[in-house]
Amino acid sequence: MNLHALFAIAAQRNPRKVALHYAADGVTTTLTYAELYTAVDRLAVGLQQWGLHKGDRVAFFLGNRPEFVIAYLAVIKLGAVMVPVNLRYRRLEIGHIVADCAPRLVVTEREQLPVLEDAGHPQAGDLPLLVVEELAAWSSDAPLSVPLVVAEDLAVIMYTSGTTGRSKGAMLLHSNLLATITGLLAAWAWQADDTLLLCLPIFHTHGLVVGLHCALAAGATTLLRAKFEANVTLQEILSGKPTLFFAVPTIYVRLVEELRSAKPVDLHHMRLFCSGSAPLAAETFTAFQELTGHTILERYGMTETGMNLSNPYVGARVPGSVGTPLPGVMMRIVDKRHQDVKPGEEGELLVRGSNVFSGYWNAPEKTAESFSHDTLGQQWFHTGDIARQDAETGYVTLLGRRHELIISGGFNIYPREIEELLVTIPGIAEAAVVGVPHAEWGEVPVAYVVCTSEVDDNGLALFCRQQLASFKVPKQFHHVETLPRNAMGKLQKHLLK
Ligand code: AMP
Repeated sequence: MNLHALFAIAAQRNPRKVALHYAADGVTTTLTYAELYTAVDRLAVGLQQWGLHKGDRVAFFLGNRPEFVIAYLAVIKLGAVMVPVNLRYRRLEIGHIVADCAPRLVVTEREQLPVLEDAGHPQAGDLPLLVVEELAAWSSDAPLSVPLVVAEDLAVIMYTSGTTGRSKGAMLLHSNLLATITGLLAAWAWQADDTLLLCLPIFHTHGLVVGLHCALAAGATTLLRAKFEANVTLQEILSGKPTLFFAVPTIYVRLVEELRSAKPVDLHHMRLFCSGSAPLAAETFTAFQELTGHTILERYGMTETGMNLSNPYVGARVPGSVGTPLPGVMMRIVDKRHQDVKPGEEGELLVRGSNVFSGYWNAPEKTAESFSHDTLGQQWFHTGDIARQDAETGYVTLLGRRHELIISGGFNIYPREIEELLVTIPGIAEAAVVGVPHAEWGEVPVAYVVCTSEVDDNGLALFCRQQLASFKVPKQFHHVETLPRNAMGKLQKHLLK
């Protein structure tokens, strides 16, 4: 089995079903499954004639659009490897990825040509480009001879967000991606008659692996959008067409703002709202529930592993928790010596399962550092996320990234706890807490807040002192216009420091 073969099953079942609906700048494109795979096969032939071989890397530097999907499916059908590049990346990041994975070809769109030219990397400059506006010229009606592609072959190299140092290329095999798909199809009760509204970038695991892959495997329809725009996206959700919506917490924050100023809404056609990629504040979870009647399902995953844990489709979805392991995923929570902690205690979350990637491209030492072995010799991936599992329910709460932990006078401080408290204060829209060096305590927490109205620092400090242990009270409050976030809405705390 390979990814393409899995998607083809759904397409054979209902070739006339709409696979992709795309709308941008007033132009709409609709592709049925039959039309999609005809375009995929024609491009695969063209790429083969051009000389693309199994194992070749193909970098993708373009926004969400149907041609991204067509080119991606053609590349993996040939056993070549898709390397999605974050569209916000510029010279340094693009240069690093190109030098690291040495792609044979770059799939891009006209709009991005100046960025690629500016990337100025000697290798980037020389690379052949497939500009998707010229897809027809790259396609051919000649018969396709498909190479054997098996589950153990490499499908995608996805570069991590790289908030600590250079980003690493996570090698995802067909089997890794298949495992995440099958786990999610079952856990979230995907149906062929689902319609997913997808405005997350498909260069990232959330949009690609959780969104597009599952929709294609289920034979569902994807309403693919170039980006999230609060007002436009809300109108689409209200239109009655989608049944599923996947987003990151910042999107839900914006939707809540939008819904507060709108008339009461009827969202009974929606089956599921999911959130992930960053912590969803309990505040947002509750506000969304009150405004829409829908309980957001929060899940947790990462580039290297696909999806790991999820709140249940049927059963209690708990705010602030990411639920329990998805089908096929095993987890442990361990201390610094890699010993299992007792239920209810905190430690690093490790995972194991077919969903876990096969290592970092060109970086055997980094791969070795991120895995450890248990007494049976089984390999576990260290997520770097600190977690606690409820002793009774088994639900897991994420406390923060291991490297973001603040240690003050020997006490552990999890920024997330303070951030969640700060956003409950009227006038504070967003908050980020980081540790700064301190002569006496080693480190102390300081807060960055985005305020929508005048907020007095003394009042803030007093409120925190009433609610938190003194060592957790931020020593300073910095008022900022916005917080640095990456394309997925994930806070980039290293930029604050
Ligand atoms: P990425 O590889 O860009 O998807 O980032 C993965 C990281 O995002 C994880 O290791 C977590 O730190 C974080 N993350 C993903 N989902 C959640 C969630 N539901 N709550 C908190 N953090 C999350």
